[in-house]
Amino acid sequence: MTKQPRELALLAESGRLLASVFGLLDRTSLAGLSTLQVNEMVEQFIVRDLQARPASKGQYGYGFVLNSSVNNVVCHGVPSQSNVLRDGDIVNFDITLEKSGYIADSSKTYLVGRVNPAAKRLVQTAYEAMWMGIRTVRPGARLGDIGWAIERHAKRNGYSVVREYCGHGIGREMHEEPQVLHFGKPGTGLALREGMVFTIEPMLNRGRRSVRTEADGWTVVTRDGSLSAQFEHTVAVTASGVSVLTLRPDEPGPGPN
Ligand code: MG
Repeated sequence: MTKQPRELALLAESGRLLASVFGLLDRTSLAGLSTLQVNEMVEQFIVRDLQARPASKGQYGYGFVLNSSVNNVVCHGVPSQSNVLRDGDIVNFDITLEKSGYIADSSKTYLVGRVNPAAKRLVQTAYEAMWMGIRTVRPGARLGDIGWAIERHAKRNGYSVVREYCGHGIGREMHEEPQVLHFGKPGTGLALREGMVFTIEPMLNRGRRSVRTEADGWTVVTRDGSLSAQFEHTVAVTASGVSVLTLRPDEPGPGPN
């Protein structure tokens, strides 16, 4: 379950490239674009500019390079021409990228135009919750510590955490061991070791945590129709703490462990 230094270097390179994809999205005015247009823009950038492979395309029979999850969609939203982003929407883009055989996975929830304060607060809290989880990562910490930190922050702010989807080990395969739950008890679960690489990707709902999958077999929505927000980074356990492999240049990072 741990990676060798050579593999970690390749994963870091994939992560750096993936961070630049979010840089592209950051520079894009999303209002008025369909989620399919965003998918096509990202695919071109990954394939042509980064000379990399969009790892989601073809995985489990999926036809796109990203998931686009708008408002009450929790995750796995499928890009489409008819889904046009509008002022006030929140949208998560979840993207994977493979370079030299190693995969990085990251997601970010964007505010489209002017978003109401309640939705903004949900998005901000989801981002903070992800970082609360990341900051617990160090050799000897337990998986339960990550989940507990995330869930505690969500609950303190009045939000629920989706339990059906979790973070995951990642490397040559998109989904490897271990599963990284976004809820849990401190001091329980697998002990982290230097060289482990996995994602942390909490989904927070404004309402209740229960979800359902729509008839397309992909799109996961909140059962009560409430808004949902998510962020994701791929992280590596280092000798002294954590390295965020998909860190974007505008992000401060985890700080001292
Ligand atoms: Mg993931």
